[in-house]
Amino acid sequence: MLESQFIKSDDILILVVDDELVNRLYIKKALENEGYSVLTVENGQQAIEMANKHIFSLIVMDVMMPVMGGYDACIALRMQEHKLNVPIIMLTALDDIESVEKSFDAGATDFVVKPVNLPIFKQRVRHGLKTHETDVALFNHQLRLVHAHKVARLGYWDWDLKNNHLYWSDEVFNIYGLSSEVKEINYERFLDKVYEDDQDKIDYATRKSLSDGEPYSIEHRVLLPNGEFKYIHQHAELIKNEEGQVIRMLGIAQDITERHLAQEKIQHLAYYDSLTDLPNRTLFHDRLNHALERAGRSEEEVAVFLIDLDRFKKINDSLGHDIGDLFLQSVADSLKKSTRSADTISRLGGDEFALVIEGVLSEEGVLEVARKTLDALLTTHIIQGNELISAGSIGISISSNENRHKESLIKQADLAMYKSKEEGGNRFSFYNKEMKSRAHQMLILENELRKALEKNELVVHYQPKVCVKTDKIMGMEALIRWQHPEKGLIPPTDFVPIAEETGLIVPMGMWILEEACKQTSKWHQEGFSDLIVSINISAKQFHSKGFVDGIQKALIDSGITPQFVELEITESCTITDIDKTIRFLNAFRDMGMRISMDDFGTGFSSLSFLNQLPLDTLKVDRAFIKDINAEGENGELASLIIAMAKSLNLSVVAEGIETIHHLYFLQNSDCDEYQGFLASPPVEAKQFKELLILNLQKLAS
Ligand code: C2E
Ligand code: MG
Ligand code: MG
Repeated sequence: MLESQFIKSDDILILVVDDELVNRLYIKKALENEGYSVLTVENGQQAIEMANKHIFSLIVMDVMMPVMGGYDACIALRMQEHKLNVPIIMLTALDDIESVEKSFDAGATDFVVKPVNLPIFKQRVRHGLKTHETDVALFNHQLRLVHAHKVARLGYWDWDLKNNHLYWSDEVFNIYGLSSEVKEINYERFLDKVYEDDQDKIDYATRKSLSDGEPYSIEHRVLLPNGEFKYIHQHAELIKNEEGQVIRMLGIAQDITERHLAQEKIQHLAYYDSLTDLPNRTLFHDRLNHALERAGRSEEEVAVFLIDLDRFKKINDSLGHDIGDLFLQSVADSLKKSTRSADTISRLGGDEFALVIEGVLSEEGVLEVARKTLDALLTTHIIQGNELISAGSIGISISSNENRHKESLIKQADLAMYKSKEEGGNRFSFYNKEMKSRAHQMLILENELRKALEKNELVVHYQPKVCVKTDKIMGMEALIRWQHPEKGLIPPTDFVPIAEETGLIVPMGMWILEEACKQTSKWHQEGFSDLIVSINISAKQFHSKGFVDGIQKALIDSGITPQFVELEITESCTITDIDKTIRFLNAFRDMGMRISMDDFGTGFSSLSFLNQLPLDTLKVDRAFIKDINAEGENGELASLIIAMAKSLNLSVVAEGIETIHHLYFLQNSDCDEYQGFLASPPVEAKQFKELLILNLQKLAS
């Protein structure tokens, strides 16, 4: 709104219009004596020009003038905006009654007879100014109101029920997209402007309000020519006559489109995933709840799919989060395309998706959806020039009369999903009861494992590593066992995976490290001063926070020389972040420790890959040894791996040497050390010392 639109009354400026100089000066002087500012002109034409340049609080105008007379000027002035209210006092001859009437018709406010009687004239001027001041205040007030309504997109209306006449303020016309020229507004015309689908709602509310005599508040839409909606809030109040009959309805109409869109946006953010625009976890729960409620009322059941992408972490870690995000969007698109509109596909977070299927009548139907979803998941995506293949592990649970509990169904689908993962991914599994008992067992084990660490139920066993050529015990591998109070000695294969999954491996691994270093340091002091201890490090532990510091602490606390400590890592340590892995490995070697690659040949590593890593030792997995027979057959792969390791200047340790034939085979190869039941199974520390003493005696004899 422009400042100039408001009329100010601080300085009172009066225009005197008269063709006779004497009159002009006489009146000017009189007015100036009263403290007003005065401008003078000679005719109507000049008056109009002047009025365009200044804002006058009052105009004194002679009726009879050359060029343009008083009443023509009056008409012209009144046609101009903002001159509507300026008081115009006409100066007229006593006998010219006709002119006076004409001037009033033209919009004059008052008249004074010439020759001017000054006291009366001044009185008239004061009165004119006073009226003007009130007019100005009223005008400004109205202007403010109009603007306020405009800003608030608020219009008001007044419906006279007796003659169905509807008054709309300008803003209502704006809101409904009608020109305010259309003055013939009635209820039917208004209803016609409301969006078709909302007309009944409005009509019902209006009729109900009229019959109940109660106000109403309602929102409705107006369809704009560009196909978008405008949202309008209507509030109506009723006016009754003395007999209690409703005679008028007053209301406001407010354009709330912006608020509505903002609300929609907030709603969208709360319920949709911003990356893929799929429903998020909250909406998934919501939809599942509703689906289960409906299932309770019908014969139809609900199926829950939990989907976890295979190898997503690898993509994310190796190609970066941006590509990871684009990949997820692309997978989401594939999933969207493969699902019916009635089913809800959502993203729960990370690489986890979920599908809720309603109207399930048989397992066969679900099976078909599962196949389709698996197909949709197994897709090649071209992301910034990278050809990436997606695949997923799906777990499925179906509601039944016995189980329509949301949490339980999700849990079941989760268990089934883990089974799909365990079996290598790119498959679906239906939940069954055995999974539950397995999960239950796992849970019990997890809790017990936590306590085991506190109650010192873990023990380290040691298995000798023996020189192939000399039979000397060169060192030992530290292998963890759990001395369970009821179940006896539990092998690491039964609890290390759980420890990894739950993160318990981190404190547990630290404990093993400290224990094994302390024990080895002790043996060094007892005379077996060149023993090298090998300690297994799991991938999770390797990448855990504070791992490097933890190792350093274990070395210092035990007082062991780092040259006698070897860390056994597996290929899985190296998968996630190769640069970080190399950095860490170099740091360990800088501390003086040795690095060994465990279970070599069972993973994916190639020779060139191994070449990148700072390694000292390669352990040939038992799988390459176990089939070697008395004739020395089936050892080709083992020979190959040994030769390859040697070409990389690595020391080689063969695992799982159980028979003398295995050892013979090794003696004919370049292998440096061996480990296996032939020499000794892993044993407790006390027994291991006996092995050391025996070995020393044997070598001496
Ligand atoms: P690994 O590091 O490859 O350890 C060698 C495994 O082979 C040991 O099983 C050992 O008892 C077994 N073994 C040794 N000689 C023979 C043999 O001649 N024949 C046969 N059939 N097996 C033999 P164990 O102690 O059950 O450990 C299994 C796996 O558990 C280890 O494989 C290692 O990956 C993991 N593990 C053991 N202790 C630890 C530990 O302290 N920390 C971590 N992170 N993992 C551990
Ligand atoms: Mg090992
Ligand atoms: Mg091994």
